[in-house]
Amino acid sequence: ITDPIANVKIPKYLRVNTLKTTLKSVTNCLKSEGYNLFEGNWKKMGIKEFKIDEHIDNLLVFNDKVNFHKHDLYLNGHLIFQDKASCIPAQVLNPQSNQTVIDACAAPGNKTSHLSSLMNNTGTIYAFDLDLKRIRTMKTLLDRAGVANCEVTQSNFLHVKKDDLKYKDVRYILVDPSCSGSGMVQRLSHLTDNAESSSDKRLSSLSKFQLQVLNHALSFPQVERVAYSTCSIHDIENEDVVKQALANNSKFKLVKCLPTWTRRGHALKGFTDEAEMCVRCQPELDGTNGFFIALFERTQSSVICPA
Ligand code: SAM
Repeated sequence: ITDPIANVKIPKYLRVNTLKTTLKSVTNCLKSEGYNLFEGNWKKMGIKEFKIDEHIDNLLVFNDKVNFHKHDLYLNGHLIFQDKASCIPAQVLNPQSNQTVIDACAAPGNKTSHLSSLMNNTGTIYAFDLDLKRIRTMKTLLDRAGVANCEVTQSNFLHVKKDDLKYKDVRYILVDPSCSGSGMVQRLSHLTDNAESSSDKRLSSLSKFQLQVLNHALSFPQVERVAYSTCSIHDIENEDVVKQALANNSKFKLVKCLPTWTRRGHALKGFTDEAEMCVRCQPELDGTNGFFIALFERTQSSVICPA
């Protein structure tokens, strides 16, 4: 059985790592190597052309056949391979300099290094992941990117204590939990048993886990904003999880992610205005992996005022 998503072509995206360089410096370097800035549709872009993305800051778009793995800009951490859709969570969470942030399911750390760039390497990011091998990859990646404001811990985020004094200043949490990966364009369909990976039983168990992680993030006493994302195309891992999290956490509302993006969440019963707040990415239409993002914001102060 061939997987329709696995056959879609999407461009290559490289994020400019502003911890080490600037958009201007990278574009000047590319131009000096004979690359030309292209204004039209990426599908018509040649191998020596690139675009500056219209939705994500500091993101460059290349022909899907371009190979940057041996390029100095990649090897020295000035450019980072990151699909456009996966840049949305950190951009919409928008942590400010000197703030305290948790990346709940962080490895291999592309979103962590994006958070660090947005924070100008200041403040603190507490990054957690269960998987030691992925954490090792993450440490190499963070090192290459010049990230200096992140503490990486191999830990189950569900066991991280929300009342621990260490996390008392956490204002932003990024929740990008394990998911079915059903939106990934280049996943190797021959290695993935699609029937198995998208079985109702598996999706239902992933959905329960995703809700647990999201509820835990929303329980941190001072958290103001929480971004939730998956690379799944299934409602049960996306809108369903967000709908239940809203029902469980009355002090939070959704805010509109990336207002200029037209593809919004799927409307569910009792979740129509809310669906408009969420972002969906669809490979064949958006030229990205299939993706979902929702952004929660606290509506009521977490500080209990004395009577
Ligand atoms: N945010 C990452 C990035 O942008 O590079 C990708 C994260 S991946 C979608 C999900 C991660 O969640 C996996 O690395 C997995 O090991 C981790 N994970 C699964 N269960 C977890 C848990 N209970 N606590 C912390 N991490 C967990």
